[in-house]
Amino acid sequence: MPEQPASKPTIISSTNAQSKNASGTDLPGVETICAHLGEDPSAYFGAATPPLFQNSLFTFPTCEARARNYAPSSDGSALAAGGVSEAYDYSRVANPTTDIAEAKLAALEGGGRARCFGSGMGAISAAILSCVKTGDHVIAPQTVYGPTRQFLNDYLKRFQVSVSFVDGADPQDFADALRPNTTLIFLESPSSVVMKQQDMAAIAAIAKAHGASTVVDNSWASPIFQRPLDFGIDLVVHSATKYLGGHSDMVAGVVVGNAERMRRLILEEGCLLGAMLDPFAAWLLIRGLRTLPIRMERHQSNARHLANAMLEHPAVARVFYPGIATDPQATLTARQLRGTSGLLSIALKNDSKEAAYAFADALKYFGIGCSWGGFESLVLPMTVPKSAADESGEGRRWLVRLHIGLETCEDLWNDLEQALAKSA
Ligand SMILES: *Cc1c(COP(=O)(O)O)cnc(C)c1O
Repeated sequence: MPEQPASKPTIISSTNAQSKNASGTDLPGVETICAHLGEDPSAYFGAATPPLFQNSLFTFPTCEARARNYAPSSDGSALAAGGVSEAYDYSRVANPTTDIAEAKLAALEGGGRARCFGSGMGAISAAILSCVKTGDHVIAPQTVYGPTRQFLNDYLKRFQVSVSFVDGADPQDFADALRPNTTLIFLESPSSVVMKQQDMAAIAAIAKAHGASTVVDNSWASPIFQRPLDFGIDLVVHSATKYLGGHSDMVAGVVVGNAERMRRLILEEGCLLGAMLDPFAAWLLIRGLRTLPIRMERHQSNARHLANAMLEHPAVARVFYPGIATDPQATLTARQLRGTSGLLSIALKNDSKEAAYAFADALKYFGIGCSWGGFESLVLPMTVPKSAADESGEGRRWLVRLHIGLETCEDLWNDLEQALAKSA
């Protein structure tokens, strides 16, 4: 038996991706990252795609070899974890298949390390918990994803963590909401119903001056179109269930940040809370990532075409999408986004549940459902406070959220056109 059967091939260690990232220059392009980074076919009999390590446990040839793996590392941490341990030993801590997905995601976001979680909320709750303690204060935009809002506003109450929700379109909103105990500014840019953005560079500077951390939910744009770490943000989170996976066949999340922050997060919120990604889902995530850049291009071109066509349509009052020239945040879009994804919302002229339902029900190629980011088009009627839709007055307004998938653009337009006719 070899001395260390579970030794990590160097090419797939996250530490390797991290040193490449630190210099920033010797990383390959995004398509090549998706195709090759983190993989070493020679370690797996030349297999063109990496094997699925669907095992909970790794064993050692001798007790000595196992004891060595648990020796305190140079930074004094006694607990072995991915990138710290000499060898794989338990899949809650690290798994070779998951490591490949993490190496790619760290490189795509330009971060030192990534950690995959069992869902987007697993990643988001871990990132938030890594930044707060009892008595702290958090600031987030009003438009933040519902369950994130509940976690901040309801769940964290039991630890006396308070939260202020702000409009967030003006960075000054965050500066004004700062308190001495503010330790985290949580952003989601663009948001996922009205696609509102926050100025990440300005807000990161405000947070740094105050000693607070910043986290951005980057699910809408994916790393192909936006890299929050480049703007001074501390941690990026994703629902990898959406674009990163891209096929509506798995649930996953990821946190990316610099190596030091991530080392602690992996040991604590990662290994102790234990919401690790199952290796099979990691394997599907790797498969999804292969086509991420080309999928995003097609989501973008389909969505831009359809958003502009809907803008012209008499049944449509407004289109919420950073990819249109009339978007009120166009200046910020030019600074932060390198492209726009397939998620947009429309306000029908006829602001009623009946119109929204009639439109959604009439669509043939758009499944009625809550998720997005997969290959397929989806539709979801929902209401938002009028203020969130930039309208005056009290109460709520009906919107219809559309995820523009990878289908033939002309088919989607024909479908939308016949359904819009039924919304009047
Ligand atoms: C879906 C979603 C999440 C949560 O991700 P899960 O994988 O469902 O846990 C977080 N943020 C945004 C913007 C989302 O759309």
